[in-house]
Amino acid sequence: MPIYRAELHVHTVLSPCAGVEMIPPVIVEEALKHGINLIAITDHNSTANGGAVMEAALGTGLTVLPGMELQTQEEVHVLCLFDGLEQAQAWQRTVDSKFPDLLNDEEKIGEQYIVDATGCFIRKEERMLISNIAISLEEAVELVNRLGGIVIPAHVERRAYGLLGVLGFASPIFEALEVSHHVTIAEASRLFPDIEKFPVLQNGDVHSRDGFLGLMEFEMQAPTVAEIRRAIRGVGERRMRIISAGLE
Ligand SMILES: [Zn+2]
Ligand SMILES: [Zn+2]
Repeated sequence: MPIYRAELHVHTVLSPCAGVEMIPPVIVEEALKHGINLIAITDHNSTANGGAVMEAALGTGLTVLPGMELQTQEEVHVLCLFDGLEQAQAWQRTVDSKFPDLLNDEEKIGEQYIVDATGCFIRKEERMLISNIAISLEEAVELVNRLGGIVIPAHVERRAYGLLGVLGFASPIFEALEVSHHVTIAEASRLFPDIEKFPVLQNGDVHSRDGFLGLMEFEMQAPTVAEIRRAIRGVGERRMRIISAGLE
């Protein structure tokens, strides 16, 4: 079965906390340089640059899943991954309808650029992307699943925006958890024993061109959300594995 080396948590220049170099051609180049052939674009509360990275990757052998790092009403970050732009855009419409009425403060928070496949400026996102969206964790799972996507809580052990750091427990509605690469899974599990009940992923949470780690490997028929889900469920068969752990 084909093997995919994956980085499922990548921010672009649209995320105010990401480097200004994080434009589609650079993301594609860096991923390939690290032997990564599957990435997901997960900007804060927005899928707007996903299509541009997908276009930039055409013909390169790199698969790009459009996604989002949603900030739920509980102030928890979850990765929402999709196969296609249509699903991602449908999810964006739901998120847009629950957006708070806040404008970004460029000076303080950072700039938020929507770009084309070559990285050229299209427009600025004026809303404050790092905001709580009025969608609960449970609603996010239900709605994203209904669109054929998958929800994976991000950097769960972190005090800021991590599922376990914020709430202290992980509901069984989740199929897998992401532990940040700043800790080992053993360390994170000592802090939060709930982690042991779930398949665990580690990603780079890439914000700059040197942030690509490609810690995960998936054995899948195809680079799709359905196959990622199968690999997660078949974790006992080691169809999803962490090939090199995060910082120890
Ligand atoms: Zn986050
Ligand atoms: Zn992130």
